[in-house]
Amino acid sequence: MSNRITDPDCLFCKIVAGQLPANVVADEEKVLAFRDIDPKAPLHVLVVPKDHHADVTTLAHADGATLAELVKLGSRIAADEAGGEFRLVFNTGPSSGQSVFHVHGHVLGGRDMGWPPG
Ligand code: AMP
Repeated sequence: MSNRITDPDCLFCKIVAGQLPANVVADEEKVLAFRDIDPKAPLHVLVVPKDHHADVTTLAHADGATLAELVKLGSRIAADEAGGEFRLVFNTGPSSGQSVFHVHGHVLGGRDMGWPPG
């Protein structure tokens, strides 16, 4: 039996559980990567923990090792698909643009990017 932390109302928990389809790039013990449904760059993958945590701050406090796994997986995908240069974004809170409250890192690459972000 799985001891996974889940929220039955969470979109990304449903993707993790295989209840909703996703274009999965990597499936590891603790983390999953899938393509963003509305990509903002040639590479736009979301890296998520399989356990439900609302945002990156919560994850950092609860399970820093899994946060490190997310970063390593995002780096590896960027190396494979975008020459190893990428932007990793964790929108945190509604004013930052977070709309799904299951922590996810946006791995963006494959084009030049401006700074500061909007
Ligand atoms: P954020 O606004 O930072 O919370 O990012 C949420 C991201 O999830 C957005 O970039 C959406 O395009 C993406 N998204 C929403 N639903 C899905 C889905 N079913 N599959 C893949 N990506 C999704």
